[in-house]
Amino acid sequence: MIRKIKPEFIAPYLRDASNFSGGNAEEVVIPESSDELADFLKKETRPITIAGAGTGLTASRIPSGGIIVSLERLNKILDKGPGKVEVGPAVSLNELQKFLAPTEWFYPPNPTETWASLGGNLATNASGSRSYKYGVTRNYVDEVELLLVDGRKTSLKRGLRISEPLTFTDGSEINFPDIKYQSPVCKNAAGYFVQPDMDWLDLFIGSDGTLAIFTNIILRLAPRPDDFVSGVLFFKEEHSCWELIPKIKSMVNQNIDPCSLEYFDHNALERLKSKYTNIPDYSRAAMFFEQDVAKKCDYDGVLENWYEFLNAEEIILEDSWFAQGPKDVQMFQNFRHDAPVLINEENSRAGRVKLGTDMAVPDEYFLSMMELYRETLNDNDVDYIIFGHLGDNHLHINLLPEDSQGDKAQNIYDTLVDQILKWGGTVSAEHGVGKLKKDYFAKMVGPNGLKELSKVKRCLDPQNRLGVGNIL
Ligand SMILES: Cc1cc2nc3c(=O)[nH]c(=O)nc-3n(C[C@H](O)[C@H](O)[C@H](O)COP(=O)(O)OP(=O)(O)OC[C@H]3O[C@@H](n4cnc5c(N)ncnc54)[C@H](O)[C@@H]3O)c2cc1C
Repeated sequence: MIRKIKPEFIAPYLRDASNFSGGNAEEVVIPESSDELADFLKKETRPITIAGAGTGLTASRIPSGGIIVSLERLNKILDKGPGKVEVGPAVSLNELQKFLAPTEWFYPPNPTETWASLGGNLATNASGSRSYKYGVTRNYVDEVELLLVDGRKTSLKRGLRISEPLTFTDGSEINFPDIKYQSPVCKNAAGYFVQPDMDWLDLFIGSDGTLAIFTNIILRLAPRPDDFVSGVLFFKEEHSCWELIPKIKSMVNQNIDPCSLEYFDHNALERLKSKYTNIPDYSRAAMFFEQDVAKKCDYDGVLENWYEFLNAEEIILEDSWFAQGPKDVQMFQNFRHDAPVLINEENSRAGRVKLGTDMAVPDEYFLSMMELYRETLNDNDVDYIIFGHLGDNHLHINLLPEDSQGDKAQNIYDTLVDQILKWGGTVSAEHGVGKLKKDYFAKMVGPNGLKELSKVKRCLDPQNRLGVGNIL
């Protein structure tokens, strides 16, 4: 086991992509195996924070004291037979994609940050542009090995319901507490996932490093589509873009069946112009779409369907981009990824902690949500960009206040949260609550919800030592 105690070696673990500063830890511990980690945990009494790859956006891996456990040495990838792969928690999405590239299988969730670790993806239940059709990380986890903070270990398979006890290798058992709380029904990554008679596995996925440590993961894969029809459409009016979404959704059983439907507002496009000079000047909004094509021979038919549909909707096609091959498909994915990257870089240059929303609402409030965003943001002079997942009614607003506008930006965020919660939405659909969205999460679930979720935490970590400061 490697142990780092010098401040300069600890410092890189005190950062993530949120720009949050002020974390501290006594040491970083890097186990070589899960058994070594289990032995260590059995003797340890200090608070523990798990480090993944540090791409998180909510400061959830940044501790205030105690020790950091980095699982960077648990990085093996093994083929587990058709449609299955076994990964150590430190394996990145990039490494997994490279491993699968020569095979006929692929891992559908594609959070755009491919340097993230799969352990981190499970802890945040990460999702991405293709989650609209394929679903979130949770849908692709079949089995995990996990450790509690006291060193107890279990191998947890899909199918073990919370109505049954969770059993550990030392023979001890834990029962799920009797609570009434249930997670919202829209896309959601805020707080613990709780649904009646769910699997234990689903509780741990998305628990923001607070309930257990993933030390091994078996993922379910899907057959790789032969191709993707993929394009970026530009709009003179924001409304034309927004109004297309319910229409696309209503076409799902009529050959228009996208896996990605992503948004860029005019401020995002202005930033992206620094890299993509062919964005038309008139663009007030853009939509990136992808539709998976199982068999190459169906490609032309699917493309034709999109042309017909878009023509009927009078969408300008002359300046739109349509992929001509896998390179373009990747280029459009990069285009999507560059929106948050450019903003995170802008925040870093300004020394600004990320003030980004991650809210989603049920389908029926999609257009009202877009109106709310436009009106609230236009009524204020705080700079912002909007991008994200139109298909899931899940947009990211990044507020970019000047030094003197901090309170104003916070007020805008508060106003938006209040309305989104009235519509039965969530304060985090993808990045998790971490340390930055705790107040909003408390608002979302109320005092009783917090009390009930604390019972869940207590039954797995009674001394509150794991991921202290996240969620609750
Ligand atoms: C440019 C950019 C784009 C992004 N796009 C997306 C996106 O499209 N979708 C999306 O969902 N997210 C996105 N993210 C956020 C981020 O990539 C995800 O939250 C990711 O899952 C974090 O993984 P990580 O390995 O970096 O975890 P870290 O940031 O290191 O940690 C995140 C949390 O996971 C816990 N954790 C890590 N490993 C384990 C483990 N083995 N066991 C238990 N807990 C663990 C940590 O304690 C912490 O609470 C983006 C980030 C950036 C910078």
